[in-house]
Parts: sequence; structure tokens; C-alpha cells
Amino acid sequence: MSQQQSTVQTSKPVARSRELFQRAQEVLPGGVNSPVRGFKSVGGTPRFIQSARASHILDVDENNYIDYVCSWGPLIAGHAHPAVVQAIEEAARKGTSYGAPTEIESQLAETVIERMPAIELVRFVSSGTEAAMSAVRLARAATGRELIVKFDGCYHGHADSMLVSAGSGVLTLGQPDSPGVPKAVAETTLSVPYNSASAIDEAFSVHGDAIAAIIVEPVAGNMGVIEPEAGYLQHLRDVTQRHGALLIFDEVITGFRVARGGAQERFGVTPDLTVLGKIIGGGLPVGAYGGKAEYMNLIAPVGPVYQAGTLSGNPLAMAAGLATLNLLDDADVYDTLERRSAKLGNGLLAAAQAAGITATANRVGSMMTLFFSGSAVHDYAGAKHSDTGLFGRYFGMMLDRGVYLAPSQFEAAFVSLAHTDDDIEATVAIAETVFEDLAKS
Ligand SMILES: *Cc1c(COP(=O)(O)O)cnc(C)c1O
Repeated sequence: MSQQQSTVQTSKPVARSRELFQRAQEVLPGGVNSPVRGFKSVGGTPRFIQSARASHILDVDENNYIDYVCSWGPLIAGHAHPAVVQAIEEAARKGTSYGAPTEIESQLAETVIERMPAIELVRFVSSGTEAAMSAVRLARAATGRELIVKFDGCYHGHADSMLVSAGSGVLTLGQPDSPGVPKAVAETTLSVPYNSASAIDEAFSVHGDAIAAIIVEPVAGNMGVIEPEAGYLQHLRDVTQRHGALLIFDEVITGFRVARGGAQERFGVTPDLTVLGKIIGGGLPVGAYGGKAEYMNLIAPVGPVYQAGTLSGNPLAMAAGLATLNLLDDADVYDTLERRSAKLGNGLLAAAQAAGITATANRVGSMMTLFFSGSAVHDYAGAKHSDTGLFGRYFGMMLDRGVYLAPSQFEAAFVSLAHTDDDIEATVAIAETVFEDLAKS
């Protein structure tokens, strides 16, 4: 597969993807196993992928793309990194699952704990959803309280108590964000605007005694990328401490991406519990939650809080995660990611501006979003002001010219260690042509 594809192409063939999408829709709801893959918000045919390597993916019509989805975050080392593939192969030859303890679970746990000192004990599960759900259960058990505070536009997986949107005001209890979520469950969650210290203060002044925890993406990645304002995470730390609530950082995206020790290292704020996923599985299904021993020892079999998993700590997933974290041991890799990501973020924004297209670039390390919005984006309400129609056209034209972005305005682009300077330059050059054409239309 060609790794260099800087020439601008147009009107890529999609016949085979279209055929496979039709077939998939006969047997899978919407033809996909996770909704955003269906391209519903941008239109067009989802590309069916046949293979991927480093920074590129190849679809079934033999179109090659520079990939900034990277499986939605796990592939910080790029696709099919030789060290990760080798680790998986070696593990698979020895058996794929035993339902009994293995040494590699401790090795990955030790690596996680060394990089995130706030974690004293960690429990591996099979997805970020499961990890967040379990951390919330643990926080409720540890405090004997039921209310959880989350933030509008943050995502913590699809457990009932996390699929909740704000009620009619900051102080009202949440309502189901999906049919099927019981109202009674939704009412145990409050959802407030991100980056608003006053909203948090109000929520705690009214419900403080009943709040078990705040769960937050320390850098929001699921409403597009939004950085916490200076002092905001510390404010969450102070408020929870004052009211005897726990602070849960959902670092499923940011963990080992925005710094060697995640967002908690980058922003210098220590949570009680940390939720992990994505990168720690190196592209295999994994989640984890961890924190202070006093809390983690409430989990079975030590304590009474039940949580279990047939494939938890799966040896293939542990091997892929450990191999990936080993590639991230050196502080230099974060400098490299920072430099390449800055080049991409600045390049895309400059390309938009040169063509007279209104946009705002939000970036924290190797996660970024270009919002088609005239004002700075600090929260979900702001993100929703973006021109999603324009985003859809931008997305489609980038795709057609060989750049695979997340098919929604409210997602992050990820730069991996496999993205070369040439990839970034090619991407910016393509964006320049796309923005010029968009400005004309
Ligand atoms: C992806 C994600 C999850 C859910 O992880 P899954 O493995 O998809 O269940 C939870 N929290 C955040 C912040 C995520 O980005």
C-alpha cells in the first residue's frame, strides 16, 4: 500500500462500499455496530475498510486515505504497529482467554499505576462504557449517595445513568437522553454546562449532600475537543473535596494521549477515580478504572461492590495495551505528537481563513476539532452553534480527496505517532483546495 498519497484525487469509486453497506443493512441495524460509523450526520456512503497500516487506511474500492479517526483514539501508535501486532500474535499462540489470572495483567497494571500515581489499584474491564459504569457504582457505594454530576456534551459510554441530558435548568434532575433509560435512573444524574464554575457551585449548593461524584472528561472530546478553562479542573477538585463527593476523571480518550500521565498530569489535578479505555487496549477491546486503594478495595472480591467480566484482563488485549504503552514511555513521543498536531491544527485553520471560511480550531496535544463557528467554543451550547451543513460538505470533500476525518462535527481528530510530516503537509494542502472550492460554492 502506498504511504504517500499527496496528489489530489476526486470522485473516488465507492461501488463496493455501497454494495457492502446495503448487505450490512439487511443484517445489522443501520448496517453498523456503532452509530457514528453510519455517516448519518454527514451523508454519503460509509467506507468499508479492508486494511490499514501506520497512518493510512485502505477501503474495499482500493481508495487510500490518511486516517485521523485512528479507531476513535486507541491507535496512538498508528495502525498495525509491528510491536503491537507481534505482541498480539505471541499472546494468541498461547491461548486467547483462560478465565484465570495471568502475569501480564499485573504488568499492564504496574505500567498504568507508574504513569498515573493517583491510581493505586486498577480493575480491567472490556470497554470504556463498562469502566465508567463501574466507577459510578463504586462512587455511589463509597459515599452512600446516589446523585452523579456530569456535563452537557461529555460522553461516558452508554450506561443508563450516563445517557442523561440536562433538565430544564442547572438545578433540575436529568432526563433520559435515549428511550429505554428509566426516568428514575436519569433522575439520579445532574447534567450541567462544561467549563461553568457557577453551574457547579449552584448544583452543589442545592444537592451537595446527595452528590456521590462528578464525572468529567478532563479535556472534552465527545462534543468536539474543548479544553478546560484555567483552574476549572482544580475547582471541581475543591468543590468535591468540600462536599465529600468523589471526582472521577474519564480519561478514556485523554489517558496516555495528552501527556505520559494523561490529563491529570498535564493539568496537575488529582482525581479520586480514573476511567480508562482506548489507548490502554492498543486497538483491542479494553477499559479500566482505578484510584485510591480505600475505594478500589470496596470492589469484589475484597469488598461488597459487585463487578465482574468473562473476558476482563484478556491476555490479547493486555498484550496490545502493554506494547502500546511501551511505545509511549519516552517523553519525546509527546513532543513529537505536539509538534505534528500543532502543524496540522494551525495548517487547517490557516487554510480555512485564507479562503475566508469562518472556523475555530480547538486543540489539546494530539486531539483537535475544527469547529465551523465564528466564536470560541467553550461548551456544548457553543459547539452546537457550528455550521454542521458546512462541516458535512468539508468532510465529504476531504474524504473524496484522501483524508478520512471523523464523520461528525462533534468529534475529535487524532494524530498518531505514525503520522509523518509528509502526511500532515499533504492533509493541509488538500484542505487548502477544499476550502477554496467551498468558498466558491
Ligand atoms: C469512547 C469513550 C467512552 C466509551 O468507551 P467504549 O469503549 O466505546 O465503551 C467513554 N468515555 C469517553 C470519554 C470516551 O471517549
